[in-house]
Amino acid sequence: MKAIRIHEPGGPETLRFADVSEPTPGAGEALVKIAAAGVNYIDVYFRTGLYPYPMPGTLGLEAAGTIVAVGADVTDVRTGDRVAYTGVPGAYAEMAVVPADRLVKLPDGVSFRDGAAAMLQGMTAHYLATATYPLHAGDACLIHAAAGGVGLLLCQIAKMRGATVIGTTSTEAKAAFARDAGANHVILYGDQDFVAETRRLSGGAGVHVVYDGVGVSTFMKGLDCLRPRGMMVLFGQASGAVPPFDLSLLNLKGSLYVTRPGLPAYTASRAELVARASDVLGWIAAGTLRLRIEHEFPLRDAAAAHRALEGRRTTGKVILVP
Ligand code: NDP
Repeated sequence: MKAIRIHEPGGPETLRFADVSEPTPGAGEALVKIAAAGVNYIDVYFRTGLYPYPMPGTLGLEAAGTIVAVGADVTDVRTGDRVAYTGVPGAYAEMAVVPADRLVKLPDGVSFRDGAAAMLQGMTAHYLATATYPLHAGDACLIHAAAGGVGLLLCQIAKMRGATVIGTTSTEAKAAFARDAGANHVILYGDQDFVAETRRLSGGAGVHVVYDGVGVSTFMKGLDCLRPRGMMVLFGQASGAVPPFDLSLLNLKGSLYVTRPGLPAYTASRAELVARASDVLGWIAAGTLRLRIEHEFPLRDAAAAHRALEGRRTTGKVILVP
């Protein structure tokens, strides 16, 4: 079978379309024939070496497809099931072995492409808006990179919960996507002072929460967008890692909270994984959460997908199709 292999950290050219032997499921595992794999910004961190990744290895953390074999002691799923998953390395491939307790079944009406697009970014948007800082009606939030994969989903879920959404993005074309996803206001953070704009748009008070997946270029200024006792949720670092800082700043800026969450801690148990995935996939099936799968590449072109994502040329979801 074919897979995208990486032997050492580096640029997109380190991603090689190669032949590998087909894996065999062991006890508690299923073999999934992948129909679509999700590309996520974390794949860039793994590729560059910012985050550790087993190398040589197959990149990718998210996919959807059909179970073609199961190992011993698998009871939750069976051969022929349409499934999706995230959090298991090796998804940029034609086949993958996945622990059965990490698989969720795709509801009728949710395609493989939808499943591959929904699991990582959808459940992330879900936990950010419902658990890390649970938005309530009347809350105001600032969402950076609001036209990105997580951003467009987070705008929609924040709106569902009755929040006022202020988004940031780099271009007017991306701003239109963010507005379409429910952002009440969009700031072009390359051109405008997003601190002044956020304060103005929140009537001078500041927002209850900042969701920041951009990192070093937005983090410190984001603290100035918060109202007293507001929460900074730093969930990524597309522009680079945030350096250490003096915690007493949080007092000076109004008794702020800072958290740095990750999806694994919010889907650690099977029950929490299934509950989050059921919400997200159920909303997609019902049409209340819209995916924008804007960029589809053949599996062999994973390097081009990475160039587009890192080059800020994407909106919504990027997927690979074997
Ligand atoms: P996106 O589709 O949001 O792509 C990244 C976006 O970040 C770009 O499109 C760009 O939007 C913006 N950006 C700002 N500065 C830069 C820069 N210097 N280089 C590149 N992009 C920049 O990606 P994802 O939706 O996959 O991920 C968004 C963030 O969320 C990432 O940091 C990711 O690691 C994080 N994440 C965290 C998770 C968690 O559980 N902690 C889970 C999932 C994602 P614009 O042009 O509008 O500025």
